[in-house]
Amino acid sequence: MGKIAINIATGSLQQQEMIVGIDLGTTNSLVAIIHPESRKPVVLKEHDGNALVPSIVHFDHMGLVTVGDEAKNYLIAEPQSTIFSVKRLMGKSYNDIKERSSFFSYKVIDDNTESLVKIQVGEKFYSPVELSSYILIELKKRAEHILKTPVTKAVITVPAYFNDAQRQATRDAGKLAGLDVLRIVNEPTAASLAYGLGMRNDETKTVAVYDLGGGTFDISVLHISNGIFEVLSTNGDTYLGGDDFDHAIVKHWIGQKGIKEEELNAHKSLAQELRLKAEEAKKYLSNNENFKSEAAGNTLELNKAEFQKLIHALVDKTIQCCKNALADAQLTSKDIDEVIMVGGSTRVPLVKESVSKFFGRKVHDDLNPDEVVALGAAVQADILAGNNKDFLLLDITPLSLGIETMGGLMDVLIPRNTKIPSKAGRQYTTQKDGQNGMRISVFQGERDLVKNNRKLAEFNLSGIPAMPAGFAKVEVSFLINADGILKVKAKELRSGGEQSIDVKPQYGLSDAEVEKMLMESIQHASEDIKIRALVEAKTEAQQLIDTTQKFLNKNAEFLLPEEIAKTTKAIDDLRSALDSENKDLIHQKTESLNEISRPYAERVMDMAISKAMTGKSIKDSI
Ligand code: ADP
Ligand code: MG
Repeated sequence: MGKIAINIATGSLQQQEMIVGIDLGTTNSLVAIIHPESRKPVVLKEHDGNALVPSIVHFDHMGLVTVGDEAKNYLIAEPQSTIFSVKRLMGKSYNDIKERSSFFSYKVIDDNTESLVKIQVGEKFYSPVELSSYILIELKKRAEHILKTPVTKAVITVPAYFNDAQRQATRDAGKLAGLDVLRIVNEPTAASLAYGLGMRNDETKTVAVYDLGGGTFDISVLHISNGIFEVLSTNGDTYLGGDDFDHAIVKHWIGQKGIKEEELNAHKSLAQELRLKAEEAKKYLSNNENFKSEAAGNTLELNKAEFQKLIHALVDKTIQCCKNALADAQLTSKDIDEVIMVGGSTRVPLVKESVSKFFGRKVHDDLNPDEVVALGAAVQADILAGNNKDFLLLDITPLSLGIETMGGLMDVLIPRNTKIPSKAGRQYTTQKDGQNGMRISVFQGERDLVKNNRKLAEFNLSGIPAMPAGFAKVEVSFLINADGILKVKAKELRSGGEQSIDVKPQYGLSDAEVEKMLMESIQHASEDIKIRALVEAKTEAQQLIDTTQKFLNKNAEFLLPEEIAKTTKAIDDLRSALDSENKDLIHQKTESLNEISRPYAERVMDMAISKAMTGKSIKDSI
C-alpha cells in the first residue's frame, strides 16, 4: 500500500489520491489504475463489464450532451449533431484538414485561416478541446463512480507524432474536465510500460509498437535505455483502421445482395444496421470460422477466408508502413527486440500473422490490445505518484512556462512536469504593419490569462525591419538547464537580430504557492477556457476586419459597388458583434464576412496574379 498521510490541520487520515491513466482514443477511450492491493494495472469497468467508452459526443435539440455508447446510436440518424473522431481535429487549423473535410459528417468551420478549427452544431460553436473535455468528463465521472472517490489527477496518452499544439490541446481538455494533467505520455511508450518494458534501469531495447485502431494506423519504433524512451521513427496512415474493414464487408454484402445506393441513402437505418452487422461479423471472425445473421430480411453471411480476402490489401498497406518506419530509423527487422500489438483491430488473426511474419518473431499480445495503452498510462501515473520505489523521479518543472500573446493570453512553451534539462521554441509574428519591436513577457503558471500567473521577466526585441503585419518571423526559445535556470531568447529570423535573458523560475516560490496555483487553475478552468475562446475569437475577428478593410482600400477598382456595400455592412456587423462579447455571435459574423468576401477575394487574387505574371514575363524577356 502507498503512504497514508495525516492532515495536520484536521487530524484526519488522508488517503493518498489515486492518479488515473487515460487513453483518450480516436474511436474509444478508457481509464486504468494501479490496483492498490495487487499493485497491477487494471482497467476500470462498469457493471456491464465494458471498459471502452466510444469517443463520440451527441448534442440533442436542447444542447444536452451525451457521450459514449448512447451517443453512438445517433451516428447515422443525426450526423450533424453527433461528433466522432474529434481527436483528429485537436490542435488543427482548417488548412490542416481541408483535404479530408468530407470525412466529417458534421460541420467543421472553415475560416480559411490558420486559426484552429471549430465545430458547429446548430447555433453553437465548439472547439475540439471542449468536445474532448466532454469525453474526459464522462471518463472522470465513471472512474469516480467505480472507485467511489474523487478523481482529479490524470496521465493522458497521445500518439507519438502529436505536435506541441496537439499536446497542449489535450492538456487543456483535461483541465477543462477538472483534471490536473500530470503528464502527457506517448501511446507507444505507454504500451511498452504496460508490458513492463523500460521498467528496469539496466535494460536497453529497441521496440516496435504496431497500433491499428478504429480509424488510424501507427507504427512507432522506440529505443529504450536507462528508463528513457526515445522515438526513433513513426509512420502510419491516419485514415486506415478497423472501420475500413467494416466498410469492406458492407460493400461486399451490398454487392452480393444487389442493394442499391439509393436504397441505402433513403433508409439510413438500413445503412446503420449493415455497418453494425459488419463490425459484429469482423469481431466474430477473430475467433470463429463462419458468421451468419440477418438485416431487414437479408441473410448476411461471411466466412474467415472471404473476410481475409477483403482486407488483404489494407493489411499489406500497414506492413509497407512498417518497412518505411524501419528505413527511417535506419534499422532492419533483425534490430527489433520486441514487437507490441496495440489497438482493437490487431485482434484480427490475419493482422497478427502478417506482423509476426514481417518482424520474424512472436508478438506481444497477452494484454487486451484496446486496453494496453490505458494500462501503461496507469503505470506512468503510479511512477509519478512516487509509489514505485524503483523509479527515481527526475527533476521536473513544477509549473508551466510561457509568454504573453495577443489579448493577454498565456502561451505555454514548456508544460509543467517536464523533465529538465529541456528546450522548446515557437514562432511568432507582428500584429501591425511596420511594427519594429516586440515585447517578450515571460510567465509561469497554469492560468489562461497571464494576469493570473506569475511574471518572471520581460524584455524588448527591437530592430525588426519594416514589414506588413504577419510577415516578420520571431522565434522565441526556452532552454532550462540542469540547474533549473531558464534562458529565454527571441530572434527575428530575417534580420537575425536577437535578445535574451536568464531567469530562475523557482526563485522565491514555495511548494504551498505551487499547490495554490495548481488548485486555482483547476477551479477556474472552465471560465478561463471561455475567456480564452472569446479572446481568440475577438483577435481573429479583428484581424479579418483589418485585412478585409485593407483589401477593400487597395482593390476597389476590381470590385462592384454592391460588393463593396455588402462587405462594408458585414464588417460593421462583425464590429458590433465584437462589442457584444458573445463568442458564438462573433464566430457567426466572422463566418459571414468570410463567405461574402471569399469569392471576390479569390477572383481579385487571380486578376492580381495574372497582372503580376504579365509584368514578370515582360521584364524577363528584356
Ligand atoms: P482507437 O485507438 O482508434 O480509439 P481501438 O484500439 O479501441 O481504437 O480499436 C477500435 C477498433 O477495433 C474498431 O474498429 C473495432 O471494430 C476493432 N475491434 C475491436 N474488437 C475487435 C475484434 N475482436 N476483432 C476485430 N476488430 C476488433
Ligand atoms: Mg488507440
